[in-house]
Amino acid sequence: MPAVLVVTGPSGAGKGTLIRELVERVPEIEVTVSATTRERRRGEEDGREYRFLSAAEFHARVEHGEFLEHVEFISGQCYGTLRSELARIAENGHTPLLELETEGALRVKHEVPGAVTIFISARVDELERRLRERATESSGEIHERIELARKQLEQAREFDHVIENDDLERAVTELTTLVRGLLGATATMPRR
Ligand code: 5GP
Repeated sequence: MPAVLVVTGPSGAGKGTLIRELVERVPEIEVTVSATTRERRRGEEDGREYRFLSAAEFHARVEHGEFLEHVEFISGQCYGTLRSELARIAENGHTPLLELETEGALRVKHEVPGAVTIFISARVDELERRLRERATESSGEIHERIELARKQLEQAREFDHVIENDDLERAVTELTTLVRGLLGATATMPRR
């Protein structure tokens, strides 16, 4: 059984949607709540999507060695996985699933024995369309994310598994089958 599962890929590849569908089907996994210094978006709740920290608190926690991994990302915003999250999930008897950008994912792959990494891929024009549709970033930030996405797509082969998300339903099935296989889990019905 993998110690941790890592799902990565460019912004707009649909990692969030795929993970939501996955956890409904595979209740043995639990998604870690990352810490970030970025602004809270409408509809997000502190402690649910992220733990929203000030830059000062984030850096203090880095100094104390509280992060398994952390990155400074777009526009200087920081994101990171607190070690305490992995401990909390392990205590629940679940397997932690981390949703990370590629740099953090590669770090976990190399530093955590037994980590399994899954790259969610999509075409660049599709990524751009989804980011513009979501409209949570300014056009400058979208441009920055697209450029980063191009670079990240080239890194796909560094990860253990690659799933194309051109068709959501097919990608959900592929991801669920893969994760069930990794966990040795028997088929489970959706929680809904
Ligand atoms: P967003 O701002 O759209 O929520 O996330 C931006 C990016 O940060 C996404 O690619 C997401 O995977 C990544 N991310 C979220 N949490 C973490 C984390 O704890 N560590 C790292 N390395 N990346 C993260």
